[in-house]
Amino acid sequence: MSTIAAISTAPGIGGIGIVRMSGEEAFIILEKIFKPKKELNTNDIKGYTIKYGHIVSKDETIDEVLVSFFKAPNSYTTEDLCEISSHGGTYVVKKILEVCLKNGAVLAEPGEFTKRAFLNGRIDLSQAEAVIDIINAKTQKEAKTSLNQLEGYLSKQIKEIRELLMSIMVDIEASIDYPEYDIDEVSNKKAYEVLLQVKNKLKLLSESFDNGKIIKEGIKIALIGKPNAGKSSLLNAILKEERAIVTDVEGTTRDTIEEAINVDGIPIHIIDTAGIRNTKNKIEKIGIEKSRKMADEADLVIAIFDASKELDKEDEEILEILKDKKSIVVLNKIDLSERKISKEIIKEKLKNINNEKIVEISAKEYIGIEEIYSKIIEMFSLNEINVDNSAIITNVRHKEIIMSAIKETDKAIEITNKKMPIDMIGIFIKDIMEALGKITGESVSDEIIKEIFSKFCLGK
Ligand code: GDP
Repeated sequence: MSTIAAISTAPGIGGIGIVRMSGEEAFIILEKIFKPKKELNTNDIKGYTIKYGHIVSKDETIDEVLVSFFKAPNSYTTEDLCEISSHGGTYVVKKILEVCLKNGAVLAEPGEFTKRAFLNGRIDLSQAEAVIDIINAKTQKEAKTSLNQLEGYLSKQIKEIRELLMSIMVDIEASIDYPEYDIDEVSNKKAYEVLLQVKNKLKLLSESFDNGKIIKEGIKIALIGKPNAGKSSLLNAILKEERAIVTDVEGTTRDTIEEAINVDGIPIHIIDTAGIRNTKNKIEKIGIEKSRKMADEADLVIAIFDASKELDKEDEEILEILKDKKSIVVLNKIDLSERKISKEIIKEKLKNINNEKIVEISAKEYIGIEEIYSKIIEMFSLNEINVDNSAIITNVRHKEIIMSAIKETDKAIEITNKKMPIDMIGIFIKDIMEALGKITGESVSDEIIKEIFSKFCLGK
């Protein structure tokens, strides 16, 4: 394999910039461009050591650097690898990379270092995928779930399932090899029991995706209400900063504003929709349609009403949208003495709502905002999401593979139920194994591998 090089730190100005080089010739190339303070023989360099010196090109000194050495097989890629830490300026880091390339390294593709770690067998595919998830993680829970995956929690589960399947295969082989012994009946019963265990394990993994999706993508909340109900004020109160425009003029929030907050380690995306209004005004109409669409696409709808005014036709239209959605009704402006909408009125109009789902607030005075948070936490059982010591599926690709493995398991169970010859189960077991191999990477096509690593950043 060629020796690859890339800038591993984010572009821009920073304290330190790192150029990483990996491959058989990494140290040989380095020797040509690195002038260490103390003499250095790259042949007997020790792994996990750092050397001080300068990177030079011809006679030009480019920067003062520290080089970290990792010797095969004890490196990220399992190959000889070095990391040149220089000053983090745009010019210097690029120049160092350029010098590496001029002296024989080739520019790494996105994710190629991690791809090599996978191809060289240090990590499996699910662990490689975890690397990108850690990099992209925005909350503690997301980072922890991905770290667990990198440390092999998911791989371990898959390994256990495969071992169970292998135990059935051993029986099948035996029944083929020794047809004179009638072991079909015993094996069939055992196969059935083991397959049930396999199904249970697969189901637990697939169910973990409900939480996994929340951890990774968060919850999408559409904030709806007619103009002047207080959507922008509530959003501001939630964000505790003046980001959305608060205004007295009706319908100025025509498009949508999306903000993300972090509640108990879960990303919550709040989409402030335009006021839902019946109007002939074309631009406003776009806003209304958008509001309805947003509500449709959201996991939760928060509908806000100005409690100091009577419910009118427009408010009723909004209530209509809530009928078959997970929703919270917010009665705003309770700081005003005028009070026209009560919880009772809402409950009369909306049969599927109870007191628990109605919150009285004053966005202006910051009253009741915390209660909205607790409702969200309660409705999605956010405080029950435990990311410690467990394999949680957050990746749609994994979820789909597990679903197809469950289908194959069902087919195999059906065959054992019908007491058919045990070797017939073998076909399905091989299919389940193959499906699981797509998660760990043993039975996955080159195109899929390429697609997975193309999502990585350069230098990783
Ligand atoms: P939107 O059109 O739904 O986004 O509503 P805004 O957030 O722009 O609020 C409309 C008006 O109602 C503004 O003048 C706000 O100051 C006012 N308002 C919002 N929330 C409250 C509240 O809790 N109490 C009072 N008294 N006024 C509020």
